[in-house]
Amino acid sequence: MAEVGIVGAGFIGLASAGWLMRDGHRVTLFDPSGVAQGASFGNAGTFAPYGCIPVNNPSVFRDLPRFLLSSESPFRLRWSYLPHVLPWLVRFMINSTRRRYEASASALAALLAQAQAGYAPLLEERDLAKFVRPRECLYLYSSGASFDASRASLNLREQLGVSFDVLSAEEVCGLEPSLAPIFERGVLFRDSWHFSDPQAFLLSLYDVLAARGLELERKSVSALAPASEGVTLTTDDGAPRRFDHVVVATGARSAKFAAQCGNRVPLDTERGYHVRYRGASQLISRPVGWAERGFYMTPMDEGIRVAGTVELGGFSDVRNRSLLDLLTFSSKRALPALQQPDSTWLGFRPTLPDGVPVLGRASASERVIYAFGHQHLGLTLAGVSGRIVADLVARRAPPLDLTRYAATRF
Ligand SMILES: Cc1cc2nc3c(=O)[nH]c(=O)nc-3n(C[C@H](O)[C@H](O)[C@H](O)COP(=O)(O)OP(=O)(O)OC[C@H]3O[C@@H](n4cnc5c(N)ncnc54)[C@H](O)[C@@H]3O)c2cc1C
Repeated sequence: MAEVGIVGAGFIGLASAGWLMRDGHRVTLFDPSGVAQGASFGNAGTFAPYGCIPVNNPSVFRDLPRFLLSSESPFRLRWSYLPHVLPWLVRFMINSTRRRYEASASALAALLAQAQAGYAPLLEERDLAKFVRPRECLYLYSSGASFDASRASLNLREQLGVSFDVLSAEEVCGLEPSLAPIFERGVLFRDSWHFSDPQAFLLSLYDVLAARGLELERKSVSALAPASEGVTLTTDDGAPRRFDHVVVATGARSAKFAAQCGNRVPLDTERGYHVRYRGASQLISRPVGWAERGFYMTPMDEGIRVAGTVELGGFSDVRNRSLLDLLTFSSKRALPALQQPDSTWLGFRPTLPDGVPVLGRASASERVIYAFGHQHLGLTLAGVSGRIVADLVARRAPPLDLTRYAATRF
């Protein structure tokens, strides 16, 4: 049995705690904001095993200029942030060449193939399966041209083992009658599902684990230092603590810990937004994504959550009104019965320029384990990431070769 500290209490930290505690380890979570307050709070809630197509893909060479300049684009750049993000953006473009994009897609698909198995033990806990809504996600195209443009990525998904059905406009309306008849094509992804409330799921998982001894310290961690036979973790109040292993699961804020442990990683954030329509969930029976507008509408316990968009703009709390307006305007266009959103949210996805997470050991210490950078897929990949973390601590073979996810790949 080992003493393990986990920094960060989002999807990745909690799933890691669940898997580590199955092995009998004593686990302490550190997070100043408590459970599920980062990107894990307000995401679209979809378990998306089909999500192997990274944002870095060859179409960005064609689409990026239009995306960055159009007021209808779901992809934005804060121009004041450009000097800071430029090196990341250059790497992102380099990773959008066909060869690199296919390598990223293959790395994601290999993880996604293990995603359901990674969740299974977590969902077996007490009554946690009650948060799962087993309704396949529907992706929609409002123009035949954009559906045609997506054929190459659909073909790649198919080659990588993703199962889906292509639907006609009539089939889309038959499946979700409240949608406006503006969609020409749909894609229904098999084996996908969503959480009725991602935060409530994580809080319940935390309760289950806390009853078994998981500790949560609401403290910010300032430093990690490899020590002999362990790791020294220092919190903001200055008190050093020693653990046998430490897991870095701080999402978009993980680069500084990687630097302290021997790795320079080009981690940045893709800001994403949601607007919520309280009490409107009956309008759709499943997550419905609008491809051209870059968002999902997910029916949750609280109402419909409309989540998505990508904004390169760092960690400023200032919200981009025009992206929130885009989500509101577009969701009302798709679902005309929607009234007015009653709340909005901004979150920070952790994103590396190749769209692949970092999973593996730190260069400076095999006792520091990285699990961050899950970009658009952190909810989906939480279970398998937790399993990998537990395998590394136990020195068991993980379910797949981790070379492609190493922090040293940059
Ligand atoms: C709009 C939007 C929609 C999305 N939709 C989906 C979806 O449908 N499906 C999907 O799979 N993924 C989705 N995602 C992505 C997913 O939400 C993220 O990948 C995931 O939440 C990342 O989880 P995490 O645990 O790594 O990070 P986070 O949830 O951000 O947690 C990191 C935690 O680390 C803590 N922390 C940071 N610094 C410190 C420190 N120094 N000391 C201690 N603690 C610290 C923070 O307080 C935070 O709580 C979406 C994201 C967004 C923004």
